[in-house]
Amino acid sequence: MDTLLAADRIFTPEEILEPGWVEVAGTTVKAIGSGHHPHREPDWRTTTLAPGLVDTHVHGGGGASFSTTSGDEAALAAMAHQRAGSTSVIASLVSAPIPVLADQLACLADLCDDGILAGLHLEGPWLSPTHRGAHDLRHLARGNAAAVDRLVQAARGHLRMATVAPEILGGFEVIKALVDADVLVAVGHTAADTATTEEAVEAGARIATHLFNGMPPLHHRFPGPVGVLLANPSVTVELIADGVHLAPATLALAARAAAGRVSLVSDAMSGCGQPDGRYVLGSTPVTVVDGVARVTSSGALAGGTRTLAHGIRTLYAAGVPLADAITAATATPARALGLWRRGRLVVGANADLVALDDDLAVTRVMVNGTWR
Ligand SMILES: [Zn+2]
Repeated sequence: MDTLLAADRIFTPEEILEPGWVEVAGTTVKAIGSGHHPHREPDWRTTTLAPGLVDTHVHGGGGASFSTTSGDEAALAAMAHQRAGSTSVIASLVSAPIPVLADQLACLADLCDDGILAGLHLEGPWLSPTHRGAHDLRHLARGNAAAVDRLVQAARGHLRMATVAPEILGGFEVIKALVDADVLVAVGHTAADTATTEEAVEAGARIATHLFNGMPPLHHRFPGPVGVLLANPSVTVELIADGVHLAPATLALAARAAAGRVSLVSDAMSGCGQPDGRYVLGSTPVTVVDGVARVTSSGALAGGTRTLAHGIRTLYAAGVPLADAITAATATPARALGLWRRGRLVVGANADLVALDDDLAVTRVMVNGTWR
């Protein structure tokens, strides 16, 4: 039986239907329209409907981490985000020895096969020691194509993205191997200069890993990674809009400079949705105080504790139009990662939806046509 949902406002997100309706058949969107449905009373109605959120940079949540070989633990983290509206989650792994990463990818690939995760992201180990953030210095590695091949194999087609600091020894060898394997290259945790960043984009890099964080700040004569990645129309820039990693004016600036290619990410760690306390990110001890996660020894920021829905509210509060903020959490990340049936409400798309109240809080989540 088809389900007819009506809302005062629907963000498809390319269009805003006020009011509008969505018809769901099984696991997919069967029809969508503006105004009132011509023949039927809706089965359910709400204030605002949007596509299920797409979070492409997540380390954990609900007390559980993706840096694990326990499928149960990883599923717990994925479910914590799903309940909060992120119906598509790309699991991110922090730096670890290659054999450990291979085992973790193999475990997470099972969850991708089961549809619990939308794909996998390697955030290391090919990162700059000086801009490593919470990544364990001992686990950073020089670039090596054989390691890339091993990890790509372990992920069984589910490795969608890898973050690379292009300036490290073997950085461009890694970029080439990733491009050859059809894995998106993201530039991040990097000390690259302007020319090296430009070279990385020429070599195929298409994503900026949490722009501004984990790289030198923008300098007007030496634009470096921030300037190059923000200015290049072929690059999608991740922004952590948790109210901690970036100031509101920085969010507003980036949203304007990279209009249509901003991808909000939570960068959430296991303490997301949990009380303050002690956690681990990979092998790094992390302390969360007042909702801010920091490496216990160095004080460096160690990922976020907020979900992507909170990021929409933060971006909107920074002065970004609501439609743009929702697009940055749905259609843009889905397109950047090639998740063609996600992040948009169109005929044939996955029936993944979130209902939002007037305060933009998630009130209900539909995954594959089923309310959660
Ligand atoms: Zn991260």
